[in-house]
Amino acid sequence: MATSLNLGFPRIGARRELKRATEDYWAGRLDAAGLEAAGAQIRAEHWRLQMAAGIESIPVGDFSFYDQVLDAAALVGAVPERYRALGDASEFPAYFALARGVGGEGGLAPLEMTKWFDTNYHYIVPEYARTTKFRLQSARLLGQLREAQGVGAAARPVLLGPVSLLRLGKSVDAGLDPLDLLPQLLPVYAELLEELQAAGASFVQIDEPIFAMDLTDAERAALRTSYAVLREGATGLRVLLASYFASYGDDLPLALSLPVDALHLDLVRAPQDLKAALRYGVPQSMQLSLGVVDGRNIWRTDLRRALAVLEEGRQALSEERILVAPSCSLLHVPIDLDLEMGLDPELQGWLSFANQKLSEVTVLAAALSGGEEAAAQAFESNERQRALREASPRSVDPAVRKRLASLKEADGRRQSPGAARRKVQEERLPLPPLPTTTIGSFPQTEELRSLRARKRRNELSQEEYEAGIRAEIARVIRLQEEIGLDLLVHGEAERNDMVEYFGEQLEGFAATQNGWVQSYGTRCVKPPIIFGDVHRPQPMTVRWSAYAQSLTTQPVKGMLTGPVTILQWSFARDDQPRELTAKQIALAIRDEVQDLEAAGIRAIQIDEPAFREGLPLRAAEREDYLRWATEAFRLATSGVEDETQIHSHMCYSEFNDIVEAIAALDADVISIEAARSGMELLEAFSRFSYPNEIGPGVYDIHSPRVPDKDEMVKALRAAAGVLGAGMLWVNPDCGLKTRRFEEAVPALRNMVAAARQVREE
Ligand code: GLN
Ligand code: ZN
Repeated sequence: MATSLNLGFPRIGARRELKRATEDYWAGRLDAAGLEAAGAQIRAEHWRLQMAAGIESIPVGDFSFYDQVLDAAALVGAVPERYRALGDASEFPAYFALARGVGGEGGLAPLEMTKWFDTNYHYIVPEYARTTKFRLQSARLLGQLREAQGVGAAARPVLLGPVSLLRLGKSVDAGLDPLDLLPQLLPVYAELLEELQAAGASFVQIDEPIFAMDLTDAERAALRTSYAVLREGATGLRVLLASYFASYGDDLPLALSLPVDALHLDLVRAPQDLKAALRYGVPQSMQLSLGVVDGRNIWRTDLRRALAVLEEGRQALSEERILVAPSCSLLHVPIDLDLEMGLDPELQGWLSFANQKLSEVTVLAAALSGGEEAAAQAFESNERQRALREASPRSVDPAVRKRLASLKEADGRRQSPGAARRKVQEERLPLPPLPTTTIGSFPQTEELRSLRARKRRNELSQEEYEAGIRAEIARVIRLQEEIGLDLLVHGEAERNDMVEYFGEQLEGFAATQNGWVQSYGTRCVKPPIIFGDVHRPQPMTVRWSAYAQSLTTQPVKGMLTGPVTILQWSFARDDQPRELTAKQIALAIRDEVQDLEAAGIRAIQIDEPAFREGLPLRAAEREDYLRWATEAFRLATSGVEDETQIHSHMCYSEFNDIVEAIAALDADVISIEAARSGMELLEAFSRFSYPNEIGPGVYDIHSPRVPDKDEMVKALRAAAGVLGAGMLWVNPDCGLKTRRFEEAVPALRNMVAAARQVREE
């Protein structure tokens, strides 16, 4: 019989129970035992849920109080020296210190955080040094294994593999490659496998997602060595090796040659991997885990199509050698569609969240064994829903299609080249050299949040709400004038989230009530669902920007989110290429840009913080992405006159490998995160002469620390040296939304003073 298997379950809880408990613990409202109990309760509930859905092999160790990579580092004792005094990393004080730092005097900065492959989930980056000493700390994992066995789950421990654990971390010692530590790390893994076996596990999953990236020879050798060594110990354990998010590519033969008992294929992202594996030859002793249910998106699976894929596997191998699985951990989708009361029933029928996906997996496993008749009802209703979606007039808007089809090359090009635009913009926007500005949002106060919450609960009329927002805008405009900033912003008081806000107003988007997905730690987002052709029924931001501009003679910058970021941070439709969806969004943003221009807004910023995040994991696919992403941005921004200044903003990433693409966006001004990496960015911009104006963030807004003037003077001098003072803008790293006014105001005053000093020089 084919086995149904789940790779991982979201841990935050359908009602974000883990978030609440963890934040209560941080705030001192819950003690450590209370938090442990909350975690145990969530785990037990999730195991029961998976068992009830009929999943036969259930993950344990996929739960985490903060992040699974941090847990993996803690499991092998990979904790930097400076945190050691806080105790054992498997206990909360040291564990949360690694994730969040320790405030106050003698405080500690947290470990770095970065994006998990091409997802919007952030993991904690382990740190390696020559002095790193690995030591197995398995109590927590073994405890969870016992808990799972206690509720009767066929528990399969999930581990992050040794090569990925090293590769995803960073070395803090010059000349040390984390992979150099592999010989010390492997014995710890071997010991762990033995302990798991002794504790009654018979099957383990080891994730090596680095297979989704282009591997070096050293990494390939490390994979070979690791699995040869691990095979020698714990001989009673069956090992499932899993990678996801991309094809194994040229390294599929390597994966198939490793001495493991099963190999997982992500057949949603890489449908070609099944045929390729069969062509290369799957060793007799190896099972294949076929990931046919999309773990990254929320659409109902096409069961017939998925079953056909499974059939192909079965025919080539045999039923016993097939495991039926989601494409990756379900961490990246919301938990339960049944909690969505607000979605309209038609759309509801198109969707599948984590719980529903589990049922899809078990239905498919049953059908693979017993034929479609074994799950006739499920197949019938699936077929019906798929047909409804395909025929629905809500997916397709002929006007949008027609508009896209009639676009001309010139629609993606500004009227004149950058240098010529600069001249006319200088006349219309009189700004000093080294102009100062901010990235858009101002601190979101308690009053503001409560204003929006009361509006949501219908406790405020539209007029009362708008009056509240206008008062906030007026306050922020006066404050900026008083601080002496040059290009002002309206402050984004009306926005909860930079993608949700636009998703709520665009046609083709739906919002969920409980569709939470973990972004990092206890922070969750509710990505909108793009289900149909996108267009903008009416202006979205014009009244706020126009109001702000009416209050001051200084120029006020309009503020929009770009098409690539809106796409990247939404659940995108799966029935057309992402490129097409991005361009539809681009047209909607283009309309807004033109309306802002018509309302007298002279500078408009289109944020693209997720531009880099969308870059495919494999180098061979990058060119195509950069082409259409650039086209989408340009489509959104090229509808204006030369005299309108287009800004963009990027953050959260390293940009060194995409500076050419950033230049190709042809924004008049780009502000870009640089302070946290010590202006590392400048190096890339010195190798490549960036043609337009640029504002490398001069201070880090992610920290409550107020930087002094001299620090920013230094950063500005360094930037002017590389980029030329004539092209330089002065701004923080990112929006001020997460700061308090008490922190933001003095920091901005120092920034303005720094700009004035460097102007003199
Ligand atoms: N304009 C947005 C803000 O200031 C940009 C946020 C971002 O880059 N993530 O909040
Ligand atoms: Zn930013």
